[in-house]
Amino acid sequence: MIRIHTRSPDETKALATSLAQAAQPGDLLLLVGDLGAGKTTFAQGFAAGLDITDPVTSPTFTLAREYHGTLLLHHLDVFRLDHAAEVLDLGLPELLDSNGVILIEWGDTIRQTLPDDYLEVALTFGDGPDSPPDARVVTLTPRGARWQARTALVAEAVAPWRDGAP
Ligand code: ADP
Ligand code: MG
Repeated sequence: MIRIHTRSPDETKALATSLAQAAQPGDLLLLVGDLGAGKTTFAQGFAAGLDITDPVTSPTFTLAREYHGTLLLHHLDVFRLDHAAEVLDLGLPELLDSNGVILIEWGDTIRQTLPDDYLEVALTFGDGPDSPPDARVVTLTPRGARWQARTALVAEAVAPWRDGAP
């Protein structure tokens, strides 16, 4: 588990951009966190790391959007319950096979239906009542053998943003 503190939307984006350097086709990332925690902000930075130039917007009302970069990025949002049901019909394994990377906002709500291998990215509002409004804690947790084998690579990719990093 890797814990990182960010102090602005730009820092969260920069962290995600760094992480995207370690992305491989077939990767699944779950973005977990309350409304306004920064899931879409993270997705924007991640897309930038894949050289995606199209603006990444919240997919809340669309279920899924697709962006073309160095990898194909599928950005999903399953906040709405009907979306959670629709995800089953999307065929995640097929999306992952197509040189794609999938980011799912609110993915924890459909955890039971997902593959075992994913990187969980949890965003929370800064810890403590005195934390500034733009403070967030980002926790990266590798789940399953695929990501556990890459823990060192992930840690290396986000090293500049780790607490205590210069
Ligand atoms: P979510 O998709 O989780 O609902 P969004 O990314 O849409 O959240 O919104 C996050 C909001 O919080 C944005 O308005 C963003 O500018 C703001 N924000 C403030 N500080 C941060 C931070 N450190 N990281 C990410 N977003 C932040
Ligand atoms: Mg969002």
